[in-house]
Amino acid sequence: MSENNEFVLFWPEVPEIFKPLSYEHLSQAKCSFCNEALTEKMYLLEKSFHRDMHTKEISQQFEIFICRDCFTEINNAISEESKARMEQFQAQKMDTPYRRKLFESNYMNINRWLKYCAVTNKRIDLEEEFNIAGIFLGDTMLYDGLPMAISMEGLLQMDEVYSNKTRDVLDDFFSKLPPDILQKIKNSPLVLI
Ligand SMILES: [Zn+2]
Repeated sequence: MSENNEFVLFWPEVPEIFKPLSYEHLSQAKCSFCNEALTEKMYLLEKSFHRDMHTKEISQQFEIFICRDCFTEINNAISEESKARMEQFQAQKMDTPYRRKLFESNYMNINRWLKYCAVTNKRIDLEEEFNIAGIFLGDTMLYDGLPMAISMEGLLQMDEVYSNKTRDVLDDFFSKLPPDILQKIKNSPLVLI
């Protein structure tokens, strides 16, 4: 989630895959970390999916809402060195030019944004495990470098970028999550950009 307020475009509607499972409407959601209502706040929603490779059906494993304040808190706790390494990883490995092109061409087809893993560039519809992330303001999805999908392979590559010290910081922060989510993310890295 970027730190500035330069979002100018909104998706006309929230794509089906981002509809919350824990709430009837996004506007009812609360930050998974601080429990603040997200009605008028900017937040990141990350969802994790498993695909049955026979039927191709996907099922949601968990969803995490993180408000901007908590995002800033976590970002401030991560060392400058880890942040620099993640920026380098993003510049070298992630499909930012593709997303910029989609953004500039005003390409509003959500399938284009979630078709490939943003790290490995492999097709998401062939992946067994993947996460998606989007930025929202209340009930509306914002249009930025996100939404994106990242396969488990890509998530593990991102996870390797962090030092043990940063992992400890993240673990501390994640310990604020409700126990049911904490249990599910135990072995699952997160996008949390
Ligand atoms: Zn929060």
